[in-house]
Amino acid sequence: MTISENLKHFNSKLPTNVTLVAVTKTKPVSDLMEAYNAGHRVFGENKVQEMEQKWQEMPKDIQWHMIGHVQRNKVKYMAPFVSLIHAVDSDKLLKEINKEAGKNDRIINCLLQIKIAEEESKFGMSEEDATNLLDSEEIKNLKNVSIVGLMGMATFTDNEQQISEEFKKLKNTFDHFKEKYNQFTILSMGMSGDYKIAITNGSTMIRVGSAIFGERNY
Ligand SMILES: *Cc1c(COP(=O)(O)O)cnc(C)c1O
Repeated sequence: MTISENLKHFNSKLPTNVTLVAVTKTKPVSDLMEAYNAGHRVFGENKVQEMEQKWQEMPKDIQWHMIGHVQRNKVKYMAPFVSLIHAVDSDKLLKEINKEAGKNDRIINCLLQIKIAEEESKFGMSEEDATNLLDSEEIKNLKNVSIVGLMGMATFTDNEQQISEEFKKLKNTFDHFKEKYNQFTILSMGMSGDYKIAITNGSTMIRVGSAIFGERNY
């Protein structure tokens, strides 16, 4: 199937409250343009410089999502245009985003990444860290960032029961924060392999790469 056929398939199946982020990391601009010409406008990248390069080359009505781990010294390159940063995992990073957003007269929307997988390698904060961050006066006073929800990645496994439990846990955390912070609207969970389980468990935003663009060659 072509990229536009895959997108059409997704769009026909997805509940209307779920946003599809088309993950285009490692893919050429020609692939992104095929998705763009099929009407898609929300793209996700996991490296700041690659995203910045593609932003330069692509039409300017695209929403660019940074879905990967971000180093603080790279924030300045995306601050002028990024529409959502999914994987904020420290107050230091959040303060850096606030600073660079301020220089650009913008408010940048961010998600806190919560660690739900059992693997050591996955980034993210504990629920307790997130609570402390959200309750901190210093963080509440940041004028150029808005924390609009949570993001998480499940364990890479065939065990659907386990994936489902990890997503449920994240949804509970999300609902808990949502009671207190009314700007909480986005729950980013689910990728090509597990988006159906994620949606069943309350995802409002899925990040899908290979199921749209084919396998990546690194
Ligand atoms: C690459 C990536 C995805 C998409 O992965 P696929 O399995 O290709 O759908 C989603 N989220 C993050 C954080 C990623 O790095």
